[in-house]
Amino acid sequence: MRQLAERLGLRPTKRLGQNFVHDANTVRRIARLAQLSPGDLALEIGPGLGSLTLALLSTGASVLAVEIDPTLAEALPATVAARAPAAARRLTVLPSDAMTLRSSDLPEERAQPTALVANLPYNVAVPVLLSVLAELPTLRRGLVMVQLEIVDRLAAPPGSRAYGAPSVKLAWYAAARRAGLVPRAVFWPVPGVDSALLEFHRHEPPPGPATRAEVFALVDAAFAQRRKTLRAALASWAGSAPDAEDALRAAGIDPTTRAERLSVAEFARIAEQRPLTHT
Ligand code: SAM
Repeated sequence: MRQLAERLGLRPTKRLGQNFVHDANTVRRIARLAQLSPGDLALEIGPGLGSLTLALLSTGASVLAVEIDPTLAEALPATVAARAPAAARRLTVLPSDAMTLRSSDLPEERAQPTALVANLPYNVAVPVLLSVLAELPTLRRGLVMVQLEIVDRLAAPPGSRAYGAPSVKLAWYAAARRAGLVPRAVFWPVPGVDSALLEFHRHEPPPGPATRAEVFALVDAAFAQRRKTLRAALASWAGSAPDAEDALRAAGIDPTTRAERLSVAEFARIAEQRPLTHT
């Protein structure tokens, strides 16, 4: 991997979250936990130098790799052709920014990814994860590596200290849990933070007429002032504090509760009330 990086003149940048995994056991472990089979199309965001890509291809699955760094995107097909020639036709590389990836950008033969499996760029991990879940409904599950603190935030249940807007938003799409820790030594360069694996399985969004955009706007308003009671935190969302109290009571929620205690289904129930209170 070092040799390839040298040949490409690669100098890993923090801006693109470039910490590459050089440990074969780690990439094999990720591929195993992702439970891929030949029928799967794995979406890999940020394949980098291709160590995880090779492990994913070795399961028999196809891989759609989305890489923002043009030098890395260009080098990946040759790396796979050299190291795993029989798997090369199962790989498609898209030189794009995953943050703005739309389903219409995907090549026809790779238009329906079934699983997200990636060592995500840490600086944009949460928005990228939420964006691909919104854009690509065929993604049913995922196994991603991110900063430990972010994994714990994303998988946090209501009422816990780490629970926040990212936890609620991910819960809209999927049930998530921490699936293991990853030591710093497996990366080049070694990052200044701990890493972990997050596993998720898509489920139906909460029932009710409120749209995702409506619920997410409410969640952002509620957590912008997470130490306040919901009656106070939602005053401008509802129009006034009494309007917020009415909406909360109509949804069956105690107005003195704080945002960190509510599940995504409860947020959806509150979001339903807004048209009644804010005209
Ligand atoms: N998968 C490789 C590995 O495990 O060694 C590299 C992982 S590294 C943490 C993150 C990768 O994501 C880098 O290759 C980086 O260039 C790429 N990247 C960063 N931002 C991106 C974006 N917005 N869209 C697509 N790729 C991105």
